[in-house]
Amino acid sequence: MPRRSLPRCPRPNCSRKATTYTKHSLLKSRHRTQRRYRCLTCDKTFAANVGTPYHRMRHPAKLFDQVIALSTEGNTRVGISRALGLSPGTVSRWIEKASAHAQAFNEVNVDKVEPVEFQSDELKVLVSKKSRPLWAYTSIEVWSRLWTTTLVGKRTLRNTLLHFRDMKSRCCKDGPRIPISTDAFKYNARVMV
Ligand SMILES: [Zn+2]
Repeated sequence: MPRRSLPRCPRPNCSRKATTYTKHSLLKSRHRTQRRYRCLTCDKTFAANVGTPYHRMRHPAKLFDQVIALSTEGNTRVGISRALGLSPGTVSRWIEKASAHAQAFNEVNVDKVEPVEFQSDELKVLVSKKSRPLWAYTSIEVWSRLWTTTLVGKRTLRNTLLHFRDMKSRCCKDGPRIPISTDAFKYNARVMV
């Protein structure tokens, strides 16, 4: 019996937005059994978790969640790989995967924010011992604790401007003027004039 709800057909060329689909098969792997669906518009099959970080993973989803939780608590990639018996390469790949999904989610969903007050800062990011440090420009809406904007790059006038433009683009248009707390970094005052 076809159903009309999520998950939707992931094919970009599929003509229907809200896809009608039917159950297709069960795909069994070492750690799980996955349901596949068949789109009734384009006739292609797809997994239930397509478009999520768990798609095509050969490990349990719970292990992936554990890695991300440990990483957000500040554990190093090598530390996580030792604790969970995974290779450092796998841990790095999963963290990058989760970051990309989180960023894509924010790009779409952090929109029309009604801020009361912003706090902005630049944090030093050490990529490796040999490379020069980068800076993560960040803005957080103080009252809701919503992390609205992050930009990683060198500390330049251009990046400072891009960061504040991005912050502004995510707020409701014609909103009231609001205070922004930041440090005495020389470009901040220049771009906010
Ligand atoms: Zn389709």
